[in-house]
Amino acid sequence: MAFRFFVGAIVVATLASGQTTAVSGRRVNRLLIHNATVVDGNGTPASGPKDIVVENNRIADVIPLDPVSFSRNGAPAGGRPDAVIDATGKYVLPGLINAHAHLQEERGGKPQPIGYELNIWLSCGITTIRDVGSDTPRALELRKQSAEGEIAAPRIFVYPMFGRARNAAEAVARVRSLKQMGADGIKILGIDRDIMEAMEAEAHKLGLRIAHHAGVEETNAWDDIKFGTTSIEHWYGIPDAAIESGRQNFPPGYNYNNETDRFRYAGHLWREANPELLGKVLDGMVQAHVAWVPTLDIYEASRDLQRAQNQPWFAEYLHPTLAEYFQPNPKNHGSYFIGWTSTDEAFWKENYRLWMAALRDFDRRGGLIGMGDDAGFIYQMYGFGLIRGMELHQEAGFHPIKIIQQATGNNARILGQEERLGRVRAGFAADLIVVNGNPLEDLKVLYPTGTEEIRDGKVVHTGGIEWTIKDGIPYHVPALMAQVRETVATARNASTHR
Ligand SMILES: [Zn+2]
Repeated sequence: MAFRFFVGAIVVATLASGQTTAVSGRRVNRLLIHNATVVDGNGTPASGPKDIVVENNRIADVIPLDPVSFSRNGAPAGGRPDAVIDATGKYVLPGLINAHAHLQEERGGKPQPIGYELNIWLSCGITTIRDVGSDTPRALELRKQSAEGEIAAPRIFVYPMFGRARNAAEAVARVRSLKQMGADGIKILGIDRDIMEAMEAEAHKLGLRIAHHAGVEETNAWDDIKFGTTSIEHWYGIPDAAIESGRQNFPPGYNYNNETDRFRYAGHLWREANPELLGKVLDGMVQAHVAWVPTLDIYEASRDLQRAQNQPWFAEYLHPTLAEYFQPNPKNHGSYFIGWTSTDEAFWKENYRLWMAALRDFDRRGGLIGMGDDAGFIYQMYGFGLIRGMELHQEAGFHPIKIIQQATGNNARILGQEERLGRVRAGFAADLIVVNGNPLEDLKVLYPTGTEEIRDGKVVHTGGIEWTIKDGIPYHVPALMAQVRETVATARNASTHR
């Protein structure tokens, strides 16, 4: 069966007065989200009830609810809406932004339908992604289709991989060609200092932002501070910059290109950082406006492999292509769990503890922290990984109000889109999510698979995002997830009957 991007099912949003219906996948002139408790993306507490009026693809107004006038007219001031979503008892947040995403249409060379990934992202409340490395021409095409509402997808910002440049002149030429292609920014990885200096200078001239996946390389966070990187991805480069001797104490047989080696000894890295020097590095990042997108979810298998291998949503939602890619195999990036020991996990647990403390410290010093899932690797599924990341930020000690801000308003700032994305505010893009339950009490209500609650002595299945509204287009999440289940079931059938 051909993959359908749009959800055909008509979903009725029941309102006491028998109001108009919202249809999944269809934008109307005037959409009312009625009676919502709002958590904005600016770090302020929940407030409500409120009516949110969406006109086409913009938030036209956010109105503290006046129940009297509503019951008299059956509609808020400004005329009857064309469609209504009843948010009574629900929380409305800005659409989540995934600042470290990879558009993936294949895993390990095997095709995987793009709609699978896009539908899960929307179902997890993600209305914007920063793509930091994929097939660039294809990503640019998807960006256009998403912007024009032709496909059900988050809005896309394309940061192509910089690739190799042999000298400064090649680096400058490469930046110019990426600008000409229409890139929104550039992702760098494993880069020498002179190349980094030349490419960042040119990128700043052309208004391109830079995401740096620092490896264990010639450069570290001090270079990001000096050259003006927008965000450090993951974490390498930060503790490295705080090691007194300047280099981690690797064993003699260590080979960086052996991923089991690389990830094993990465688990020893944070403890080698000098806390006083680390404070200076973090202050340097704050002063130079270098943000940090830690992607805490993507290394979690290193500290708890069995947890990562047995996530409940794998049962119905893990595409067989992705499942195969996750299996230990030195050919696939991130599939390094060959002989992974309890000792490795113990080192990584301590590594996380120090990493989380550094994140809190960075925040306390005034640093900007964003969030991204980096999914499609290391047992992390698209979208689910971002929500797991939010849980890990809670474990790190952040209040859920701040975590929602990190996943919305902060990510919008990292993208340079803080004037139009990441807020529930008049004039902003109509990117919103309607959640069954209170994410400030339990971030797990954001998982599209929901949660269980006990009500009147009975177990009730609840939670999940009910609607994801991107650019004013409402998507009914249960319908999207039914599509994902069908895609997975079909692909599993095809692989068993091959
Ligand atoms: Zn990545």
